[in-house]
Amino acid sequence: MAIQVLPDELVNQIAAGEVIERPASVVKELVENSLDAAASRIVVELERGGSSLIRVRDDGRGISPGEIGLALARHATSKIASLEDLERIGTLGFRGEALPSIASVSRLSLVARTHDAPHAWSVETREGAVSRPAPASHPPGTTVEVRDLFFNVPARRKFLRSEATEYQHILRMLERLALSRFEVGFSLAHNGKPVWTLPPATSPAEQIARVAKLCGEDFAQHVIELEEQSAGMGLSGWLALPTFSRSQADLQFSFLNGRFVRDKLIASAARLAYQDVLFNGRFGAYVLYLRLDPLAVDVNAHPQKLEVRFRESRRVHEFLFRTLERALAATRPSSHSPGSAPLDWLTGSAAHAAAAGIAHQGQFLMADGWGRRAAADVYRALPDEGSPHRLAGLGEEALVPAAGASTTGYFASDDDSRGAAALAVREATASQGAAAATTATTAGPPEAAFPPLGFAMAQLHGAYILAQTAQGVVLVDMHAAHERILYERLKQLLAGPPAQQRLLVPQIVPVTALEAETAGEHREEFAALGFELDRFAPEQLALRAIPSLLVGRDAVSLVRDVLADLAVDGSSRRVQESIEHLLGTSACHAAIRAHRALSLAEMNALLREMERTPRADQCNHGRPTWVRLSLADLDRLFMRGR
Ligand code: ADP
Ligand code: MG
Repeated sequence: MAIQVLPDELVNQIAAGEVIERPASVVKELVENSLDAAASRIVVELERGGSSLIRVRDDGRGISPGEIGLALARHATSKIASLEDLERIGTLGFRGEALPSIASVSRLSLVARTHDAPHAWSVETREGAVSRPAPASHPPGTTVEVRDLFFNVPARRKFLRSEATEYQHILRMLERLALSRFEVGFSLAHNGKPVWTLPPATSPAEQIARVAKLCGEDFAQHVIELEEQSAGMGLSGWLALPTFSRSQADLQFSFLNGRFVRDKLIASAARLAYQDVLFNGRFGAYVLYLRLDPLAVDVNAHPQKLEVRFRESRRVHEFLFRTLERALAATRPSSHSPGSAPLDWLTGSAAHAAAAGIAHQGQFLMADGWGRRAAADVYRALPDEGSPHRLAGLGEEALVPAAGASTTGYFASDDDSRGAAALAVREATASQGAAAATTATTAGPPEAAFPPLGFAMAQLHGAYILAQTAQGVVLVDMHAAHERILYERLKQLLAGPPAQQRLLVPQIVPVTALEAETAGEHREEFAALGFELDRFAPEQLALRAIPSLLVGRDAVSLVRDVLADLAVDGSSRRVQESIEHLLGTSACHAAIRAHRALSLAEMNALLREMERTPRADQCNHGRPTWVRLSLADLDRLFMRGR
């Protein structure tokens, strides 16, 4: 075949192949156009899952009669005029290809009227040609009607799924769009029946009501609200409490400057922030709004603009991770935890917990049975300041220097059989607590005298603590709570620079030349983690020292994994993850086992420690550590006051 310029119609159909995958893509493009036209209400009507009709009506700016024909022309847009405009783009569209692409694979008509025009004008497309504009009747705003999608592209039509499936895709798409602009009202009708109406939501209460409608009541009741601003970046939105985890990553919405994006960087920051509080295989849920200077991001990297490119990806990742992780660290028992929602007493919710604070540097709460191998591993590597005086409360007699340790470290002797005595109990607080608990049964002290988790009353079945609070009762899973406390303490103790173990014989890590380059660029990061790594040959690295905590583990594959992460994301948390995993295991082994009798004083000490510990609402596996039953819940259970 000879080289020839393709006819416009075919060019549009090729473009449609990229942008218009299914009816939901049409809905996206049309609604985005309405949003760009500053509409305050958008009405979407569908027939047969959008395959026979998609109609989007808005009350936006409209289109002037002189431009209405152009709207359907290829590469015609009112949104940018220069490359500079493209770089600081604030609208959702800018490529000027949606309408002509859709028109090339459907029967499209467009009616629009600007606010100062006496009447509307309409155009439609027939076999690739745009009709002459004709006067029409329409209120100010625009309506686009798309009929018989893919009628002329049988190959595409074949790929369409059932009406119900396509309809579901459209619903998902509209959810994103409705979450992206709270100030805009949306309504949807399918096959002539109204499906939902979302009024404009400006107040916080209206906004969370919209979130509840789109993401579920349950989600909306178990979220932490975010609002963070730092160095030209902003993050707001809602983050589900770890105890509301999902088996799928299906409730994760992220928006960048008002545009829904499916971005690896955002997802990775959120995954990392959740990893300390979620069981493996569970997923966090969130609706996040990231705000950045438009110049700091390239949205012209994907035909459907679902993916973006950040100019400073590491800074963005760091900001997201820090903000989310701090919010999640605040999930600890607080007296502001919400009232008696049905699920509230099934999950220890702290939705309104105060902003994160540093955990109180109090006594070290420690159970017996500490002298295990895992613990020994941890302590062997403690930095110097991890000496016994920082482990006050562990009971110094229980500590023996770790034999053959390369750094100062201690672990409890195996024969520490003093049981309860090993618990760090601050006598004063504890006896006070016990006293107050006794009074509570008779008169009930003033509300302010109660800490959030109240005072212990009894130990149940050797596993749970029953405590009385100002507003009801609380049940605590002893082991789970203690595990979190120990874990957080261990993390704090190890917060300093990691101890390093030099290898007698350097280990050779075979890598690609690119990975070797990456290792060189990230030398300092590796050093900060406790690795000493240098280039040995063009495709070999020499590993000369490793973090002491990882002695006995496969450091070489860890290094390789870190390099792979660095190549993809520019950052890696694998080493920290590996250390955290080790700490988590140690904490689990060391935490109080069931069937150990605790005194009231010990139980109260545990409750107080929980209130001070970050993330204490859930154990290291994301299970709740406590549940609340308010007086109202109790009354309801016993049908009182009905
Ligand atoms: P883009 O959105 O990339 O500019 P489109 O093909 O989606 O390209 O739309 C082309 C032009 O038509 C837009 O730039 C805009 O000027 C106009 N337009 C489309 N839809 C609307 C609408 N709902 N209200 C007002 N103007 C619209
Ligand atoms: Mg557009």
